[in-house]
Amino acid sequence: MLRIITDFDGPIIDVSERYYRVYQICLEKTRNREQRVKKLTKAEFWRLKRSRISETQIGIISGLDAAQAETFSQMRRQTVHTQPYFQYDCLASGAVEAVAQIKRAGIDLVVMTMRRVRELNYAFNQYDLGSFFPDNRRYCLSNDYIKTRDVEDKPLLMSRALNELPAAYDTWMIGDTEADIAAAKRHGIKVIAVECGIRDRSKLEFEQPDLIVRDFSSAVNLIQEYSLQTV
Ligand SMILES: [Mg+2]
Repeated sequence: MLRIITDFDGPIIDVSERYYRVYQICLEKTRNREQRVKKLTKAEFWRLKRSRISETQIGIISGLDAAQAETFSQMRRQTVHTQPYFQYDCLASGAVEAVAQIKRAGIDLVVMTMRRVRELNYAFNQYDLGSFFPDNRRYCLSNDYIKTRDVEDKPLLMSRALNELPAAYDTWMIGDTEADIAAAKRHGIKVIAVECGIRDRSKLEFEQPDLIVRDFSSAVNLIQEYSLQTV
C-alpha cells in the first residue's frame, strides 16, 4: 500500500483570507482612536507571513508601537483559530480534484493537521470533504488539547499515526510549513513541501524537504509518477 499523509491548511485549504481578516480586526482593536496606522494590503500581509515575519513585527510595520504590537500579536493568536473566522477559508486551487485522484488510484490517504476536531469537522462539512477521510485516517488535535508549538506537536501526532496505521510499503508527507517537514524527517518519511501555503520557497528550502513543488496536485502527480517508476 502506498500512503500519502497530508497537512490540511496550506495544501488543501487556503487560509490567507482568514488570516488577513483577523489581522485587520486586531489592528483596528489595538490602535488608539486618534492613531493613524498603515493597514497592509492582503498581498503585502501575506508576503510577510510567508517570509515568516513575526506578528509583533507585522504590528510594528503596520504602525503600532512596541507595546501595542505585543498586544496585537497576542490578540491575533487568540483569535485566528476561532469562529466566526473559519468561514473565510477557501479550497486551495485544484485540491479537491487531487484528493479524488488519490482515492481513484487506491492510495491510502491520511490527513494530519494542527486543527482541533471541531475545526477540522467544520471545514469537512463546509466543503464536503469528510467522505475522503475515514475516522481512522484523521489525525488532528482533540478539542481540549493544550498546544505548545506546531514544530513540537506535529511530530507527536506523526508518531501516534505511525504506531496506529497499518504498514505501507511507501509513505509520503505533503505540507506547507517547517512543522510538516520536521514531523516527516524525524520519522524518516519523505516530504514534499508546497509553495501554495503560508511559507515561501526560501523558507521551505531552509528546512530541506525532499522536494518543493507548486501545489498539492503537483505533489500528488509527482508521487504517482515516482511510484510507477519504482514498482
Ligand atoms: Mg499547513
